[in-house]
Amino acid sequence: MTQIDVITIGAGGGAYPAAFRLAKAGKKVIMIDTKGVMSGNCLAEGCVPSKALREVTGIYKQSRFPEKFGLSGALKFSYKQMVSHKDYVQDIRYNQHQKELEEFPDNIQLIKGKASLVDSHKVSVETESGNKIFLAQQIIIASGADIVMPPIKGAELCITSRDVYALHPNLSELPKSLTIIGGGYIGLETASIFCELGVKVTVIEMMDRILPTMEPRLSEELQRMLNPNIKIILNAKVEEVNKAASGFDLSFVHSNQKKTINSELVMMAIGRHPVIPEGITEIGIKTEKGRILVNNALQTNFSHIYAPGDVNGRSMLFHSAVRQSLVVANNILAGNVPIDYMNFEAVPATVFTFPEMAFVGVLPSAAKERGISLIETAYSFKGDSRAQIYDEREGEIREFFDKDTMKLIGAWVIGIDAANLIGELGLAVQQGLTVFDLARYADQHPMASEGISKAARKLM
Ligand code: ADP
Repeated sequence: MTQIDVITIGAGGGAYPAAFRLAKAGKKVIMIDTKGVMSGNCLAEGCVPSKALREVTGIYKQSRFPEKFGLSGALKFSYKQMVSHKDYVQDIRYNQHQKELEEFPDNIQLIKGKASLVDSHKVSVETESGNKIFLAQQIIIASGADIVMPPIKGAELCITSRDVYALHPNLSELPKSLTIIGGGYIGLETASIFCELGVKVTVIEMMDRILPTMEPRLSEELQRMLNPNIKIILNAKVEEVNKAASGFDLSFVHSNQKKTINSELVMMAIGRHPVIPEGITEIGIKTEKGRILVNNALQTNFSHIYAPGDVNGRSMLFHSAVRQSLVVANNILAGNVPIDYMNFEAVPATVFTFPEMAFVGVLPSAAKERGISLIETAYSFKGDSRAQIYDEREGEIREFFDKDTMKLIGAWVIGIDAANLIGELGLAVQQGLTVFDLARYADQHPMASEGISKAARKLM
């Protein structure tokens, strides 16, 4: 049995930022990950590879109408080579992470294996060279999340985001047609990429709007702005998927009628669920609806066992996991008496469709539920110099202030640079900035961020 200060289950965004911070402070940390590499599902099959494909698709998309910029000749693409670029980015990032690990040879060890809990301080790890037991003062459960596969007949015939975005993915050629089950962010991002590359894409969503877990006004706006070639079928319940003479038949019920759609491939994208390591319930760690319960210090019901990241299901995003991981490290260094807390309301999120859409904080429907009165203001990209230069004038920046304090508590951006702009707005939400703070900031000209202070100045 090996004694160690801290053990992490998983080596993704919820685990490794804490491991490095703790190592810097002199703690000995062991990270266990079934993949044997650092950075979890984000780099393996999520955020990074999907953006690698998406951004290259964006260059191609822009090049299709060169005349309006005085250019000529549209670009051609090879999907295989686009995938190679994605693989290249994943490779360099894995190498980079390996070097980061090598900077702490005495304090951090990464072991390839599957971890389970034996008791509240003991972790058992199945490795290729046998079983190992570790005794740790603190345990960080950061086992992340995995793709939801519903019990639908033929679900196993569907591809998933893993087949598209993993390193050397199964899908290296574009299908002619693709039906995506699920109008959440993964389904829509993939729909946007494939549609721009000429694939006939259909999205089947069970609820009455796309992005059903997000703000209703945002769903409506985004659906209106998506490429109309993406066929979206709402209120449709998928029943089964069957192999057809050519491609696959997907059967669904829509307006009380059974319908079938045939396409070369079907993708399952109905969401991700937390991965709970074995032993959790046996030792008495509380869970609810398949998530590990944590307080805002990221402690489970055991003060020395933490569960940051996707596994607690509170905000399943890599950058949220990173911040949560640092909260954990700070609280471990404080002897499990919390000195740091996670602010789940200052975590920006982006849906990387074309156009992109981003949001942060408390938006109108959440404000209504909580009885918070809002004052809102907006800036349209129609009058924005950068949007005019790129001829991407649709969309807006919208800011929501608490009527009682005039502090910015929420914001969204749809359109040009949304993913970048939400960064400044998110920091403003985190820092509790007021409409006056935003209004007096000299946002750069001629960038779309000008709209942030201009929108605020409309209320002055
Ligand atoms: P997060 O961003 O919350 O850290 P990720 O899903 O990116 O989540 O990373 C979690 C990592 O944990 C993945 O690499 C996954 O393979 C690994 N993992 C999940 N369960 C176990 C387990 N029982 N033992 C070891 N590693 C695990």
